[in-house]
Amino acid sequence: MLGQMQDKPLLISSLLEHAERFHPNVEIVTRTAEGPIHRCNWRELGQRSRRLALALQKKGVRQGSMVATLATNTYRHLELYFAVMGIGAVLHTINPRLSPAHLEYIVNHAEDEMLFFDLAFAPSVEKLQSRLPTVKRFYALGDQESVEAVAPAIRDFAGYETLFADTPADPSFTWPQFDERLASTLCYTSGTTGNPKGVLYSHRSTVLHNQVISLSDSLGSSADATILLVVPLFHVNAWGLPYAAAMTGAKLVLPGPHLDGESIYALLRDERVTLAAGVPTIWQMLFQYVDANGLKPREELCLKDAVVGGSAAPRMMIERFDRDFGTFLLHAWGMTEMSPLGVVCRLLPKHAGLSAEQRYDIQMKQGRAVYGVQLKIVGEEGQRLPHDGKASGRLMVSGPWIVARYFKGDGGLLDSEGFFDTGDIATIDADGYVMLVDRSKDVIKSGGEWISSIDLENAAVGCPGIAMAAVIALPHPKWQERPLLICVKKPGAEVDKATVLAYLDGKIAKWWTPDDVVFVESLPLTATGKLYKLGLRQAFKDYPLPG
Ligand code: AMP
Repeated sequence: MLGQMQDKPLLISSLLEHAERFHPNVEIVTRTAEGPIHRCNWRELGQRSRRLALALQKKGVRQGSMVATLATNTYRHLELYFAVMGIGAVLHTINPRLSPAHLEYIVNHAEDEMLFFDLAFAPSVEKLQSRLPTVKRFYALGDQESVEAVAPAIRDFAGYETLFADTPADPSFTWPQFDERLASTLCYTSGTTGNPKGVLYSHRSTVLHNQVISLSDSLGSSADATILLVVPLFHVNAWGLPYAAAMTGAKLVLPGPHLDGESIYALLRDERVTLAAGVPTIWQMLFQYVDANGLKPREELCLKDAVVGGSAAPRMMIERFDRDFGTFLLHAWGMTEMSPLGVVCRLLPKHAGLSAEQRYDIQMKQGRAVYGVQLKIVGEEGQRLPHDGKASGRLMVSGPWIVARYFKGDGGLLDSEGFFDTGDIATIDADGYVMLVDRSKDVIKSGGEWISSIDLENAAVGCPGIAMAAVIALPHPKWQERPLLICVKKPGAEVDKATVLAYLDGKIAKWWTPDDVVFVESLPLTATGKLYKLGLRQAFKDYPLPG
């Protein structure tokens, strides 16, 4: 017997409608590319999104049309989120830091019909436009005066604000209702090997994911929260936080292109941010700014939680947030293929009363599965491994916001139980806390055992004088592979190989000790701000290890 409840589709437009109706005056604050702060609220964002939706329909955007953005975090990008998805078209958010070859590949692969870009990216669009035959219209995001001042030489081009000038608001406009399984957003994986692969989210997967991330045991969004989205709107839906903010009526703070320590600190302080989200490299830049200027974040800020994901949070980051900011580092793990959230590291009631050091031990873990996500770790033959915190294997996931197949892919992605292989290696303990050992391709296989590059990097960045560290495997005649530690020093720091190895002594197993330590000016990062290990492996492939 079927239940007899109303069968209302779960649509992204309903989130915006809710914010507009119940939290109309709550602000959305943007640091614009030009510098000044722009303020609007959920009511105005709703009104502009509806007007934009109408304008897009007039330009021929229909259900299933692909509309691309190449843009940083601004209210205009957010308007596009709601307008495009609200009419059943698909928003394809592109990472502007991708190489021109990858940009060209994904726009053509997605068959994007319109491309909206921050004015700052006009030079790359100018260069690429002739190789993007599916794109019928290009729009620059920015004030009309700035757009006219730059006047990019791009075919079929207009300024974003002309769409509003040409389309009066229509009070009778309502968001269309359609099947919740329709595609809403397209996001390509970083593609460090081979071509990027597209993950096509649906309204249903997005709304379900959003309901779970908003829980206080998860990332936690609420009407009294102020959320700083350092994580880009082009990186897996900014981890779902824009939708969570709309659903709960949180205030949103968008940094535009300004991600340096000074700008982020100013937003945290001036906008009274309570929850911020970003990759570890962002927080490292913030710490450097705080140190260089002798600031007192604990007194000046009210940041309750800092969500850290995308790469492992080092212990020193957990400790610094706790000690100097009074902030809980909320470690989370997920991936583009998972919308992204899989696990989040909140403490349990039984952890009350632990010492700070014991708490940090738990916070180093990526966390426990949120409702809706099923996890397993498997061995070489696909056999399930115990959740004892010791056995490590490939981390496999299943759930309603996890990829079933790649965009235009042939399927065959899931195992016989319907689980997707994340490519990560992890342990799971008896409480369900997942601890990532490594990416399967980054782990160092030495003498038949594994060395975690993540653990080594985390230990190395704790060494005074070290700003960043990366560990890669180099081939070894006896042990198969051995670790090479590559470090960037803090400005003016006096630190050498001997100091680093002495620091690591006792903190890691003896046989994990890197065979060599080299110092470089900077480490290459991927388009999403993670260590670009493939590039490092190529750069150091002929590096002779001592002995
Ligand atoms: P992306 O699809 O670009 O978001 O990358 C997802 C990958 O980033 C995961 O498969 C992990 O390898 C890595 N990752 C994400 N979060 C964490 C974390 N908290 N700790 C370690 N690695 C992470």
